[in-house]
Amino acid sequence: MRRVYLDNNATTPVLPEVFEAMRPFYLEQFGNASSIHHYGQHARGAVEKARGSVAALLNARPAEIIFTSGGTEADNLGIFGLVSRGDHVIASTIEHSAVLNTCKRLEQMGCEATYVPVNSRGEVNPGDVRAALRPNTKLISIMMANNETGVVQPVEEIGKIAREADVFFHTDAVQAAGKIPVDVQKIGCDALSISGHKIHGPQGTGALFIKKGTLIQPLIYGGSHERQRPAGTENLPGIVGLGKAAELAKLWLESSGPSEMAAMRDRLQNQVMNAVEAAGVNGLGASRVPNTTNLWFDYMEGEALVIALDLKGLAVSSGAACSSGAIEPSHVLLAMGLPHQRARASIRISLGKQTTEEDIDFGITVIPETVGRLREISPVYQKAKVV
Ligand code: PLP
Repeated sequence: MRRVYLDNNATTPVLPEVFEAMRPFYLEQFGNASSIHHYGQHARGAVEKARGSVAALLNARPAEIIFTSGGTEADNLGIFGLVSRGDHVIASTIEHSAVLNTCKRLEQMGCEATYVPVNSRGEVNPGDVRAALRPNTKLISIMMANNETGVVQPVEEIGKIAREADVFFHTDAVQAAGKIPVDVQKIGCDALSISGHKIHGPQGTGALFIKKGTLIQPLIYGGSHERQRPAGTENLPGIVGLGKAAELAKLWLESSGPSEMAAMRDRLQNQVMNAVEAAGVNGLGASRVPNTTNLWFDYMEGEALVIALDLKGLAVSSGAACSSGAIEPSHVLLAMGLPHQRARASIRISLGKQTTEEDIDFGITVIPETVGRLREISPVYQKAKVV
């Protein structure tokens, strides 16, 4: 059976070059980067090379990059590390749970939080961020690109507001890195999170950019690895893989890759929309990363569609992968004002570097066919047709 993977916002396959770069660090060059002998020095050299590659992707200095176990840890460090009891933080209602639940925890610990809304296209209004500022505001955390809709947020304007108000600005760039240029200088942020497995690097790797001179509290205490943030022996093969993935992502961004990917995404989206009635695109009209589209199909459950598509060999998702299993509609789509029913009738399609035109053709055939079949057996749809 043919299988096509269009769920790259959940995770991406490791590129062969990334895998090859990692391999020797499991078998021969396995040193602990803190050891002073040959093995350790070689490992340290590899970690520093990777730090340079990640810094280059983000237009940061190598010393501003801290390796983490992924986007979630980077978000936690970038938020917990900058905020103390009594501080106020501003986030948006469409943040990933790695940011939302961190802010919720801060509230339990004696901080205050404001969650700014989004418009129907899923965009934060920088004016709302400015209006939410308080004398005790310490941090603004607004994502660069949303994981469900791909909508890009006005982070440069928000960075300017943060600088003027002299508050920290953290942005979760997990779904932006490797898809659109991410430049910490232009954004003017103090902290920025990325994740390895969203850019064709290994799962369980990530990094936090922390602007030079910014004092950050560690999350994990132990030895002095990563300048104590976080303590613990570095994940050497993982860091090497993340570095290689960052290097390849930079090259790809400088190529025709992003526009070709956007063209493939648009072809899939438009052909499906032409073929299916009572359907639409969430976040249409907003600036979006080139690999993502989020579609609603009335008169059905997104979960049922995801399962039916999987049986046909097409992997997509409904809502965020992390919250699938729960039948709750997506908090992102609800924040955009979608009625519950439509939010539950939405699926996310996300392309990767391995996606081919044939994969897109497959989606163009299989999605309308499957939607049609599910609607045929849907009493709600039959009733709507009669009316
Ligand atoms: N932030 C966003 C926007 C994400 O999409 C994800 C993963 O889905 C994360 C953070 C968490 O990253 P990780 O899976 O590396 O912990």
